[in-house]
Amino acid sequence: MATNDDCIFCKIANHVIESNYVYEDELVCAFRDMSPLAPTHVLVVPKDHYESFADDVPAEVTAALFHAAREVAKAEGLIESGFRVVTNAGPDAGQAVSHLHLHVLGGRRLTDDFA
Ligand code: AMP
Repeated sequence: MATNDDCIFCKIANHVIESNYVYEDELVCAFRDMSPLAPTHVLVVPKDHYESFADDVPAEVTAALFHAAREVAKAEGLIESGFRVVTNAGPDAGQAVSHLHLHVLGGRRLTDDFA
């Protein structure tokens, strides 16, 4: 697995385009969503390209994504108040960017739909 030259999240994850990063390790990075739906709305993405969580994502990448989501929640002060981790996979979920990403949402009372 590698990066996709046409993918915006591949470019952000590998610093070809810079963003507003809040976490980074060897496998993943996290940056602020450009259209936030909550006071904290951070996207956690793998550095390698996977279309979605429906892909054959290696277990170590899945673990790194969820580890990063928790580190983001800690850094944003959401551990006590609560937070939501969401991933959209495919058209029925409304996935808009075809690079696997977790949304980390918090900082307000979240409703029963996506956000
Ligand atoms: P999804 O519908 O799950 O594919 O969500 C895609 C998310 O990516 C949306 O919340 C967008 O606001 C966000 N997004 C798209 N392009 C960028 C970008 N260049 N930088 C930050 N967030 C982005």
